[in-house]
Amino acid sequence: MNNYFKSKLLRDNPSVVHFFGNKNFTTPNKEEVFFLHQVHSTKVVNLDDEMIKLSNQLDGDAIVTSIKGLFLGVKTADCVPILITSTSGIFVSAVHSGWRGTYNEIVRNVIEDILDNYKLNRDDLVCAIGPSIGLCCYEVSTTMYLKFRDKFDLDNDNYRFIEGKHFLNLANINKKIINNCGVFNVESITNCTGCDGGFFSYRADGSRDKSQISIIKTIR
Ligand SMILES: [Zn+2]
Repeated sequence: MNNYFKSKLLRDNPSVVHFFGNKNFTTPNKEEVFFLHQVHSTKVVNLDDEMIKLSNQLDGDAIVTSIKGLFLGVKTADCVPILITSTSGIFVSAVHSGWRGTYNEIVRNVIEDILDNYKLNRDDLVCAIGPSIGLCCYEVSTTMYLKFRDKFDLDNDNYRFIEGKHFLNLANINKKIINNCGVFNVESITNCTGCDGGFFSYRADGSRDKSQISIIKTIR
């Protein structure tokens, strides 16, 4: 059995290699992966910037690069991992979107950044949303529900009210944000990190320092 999931959209793109790992996944051939120090921000770091040294520990929650062969990674344990590229594979991006990142629309930030930087059209972009905590498991407080309701168009895909409890689907809210950016080449892997069992889960097993990784590199 594989220790990872693949997005069909990304797998069919010959310019990139990607993996959405489960808790047993390790990077093939022990290849190096560049991670940010994730801080639940909306900060985008572009590694093409010559001022950035790859050895530095940088704060942020979205990484972008056009450097060929360099794996970018995101660590999650219920939060939403999003991998992005273009049909040509001119760049890759790994995004960490928890409830704060979702609420503050980090994925919109990174998409606008990418379009600007690489002079791409919106329909050039390809996005894959990886396993995260699902509608089945992500119960939120009334305060949190109201916060999201006031900002987003909550529907049956991303919100349920069951037996007096509120449930959100962060992955679907991210998908909607991506669509609202005019990007419709989006695929979601819907396995729930809370109840699937194959994943570290902040909610379900109290994972605080353990997380699965999702990685992507361009080989164009
Ligand atoms: Zn679940």
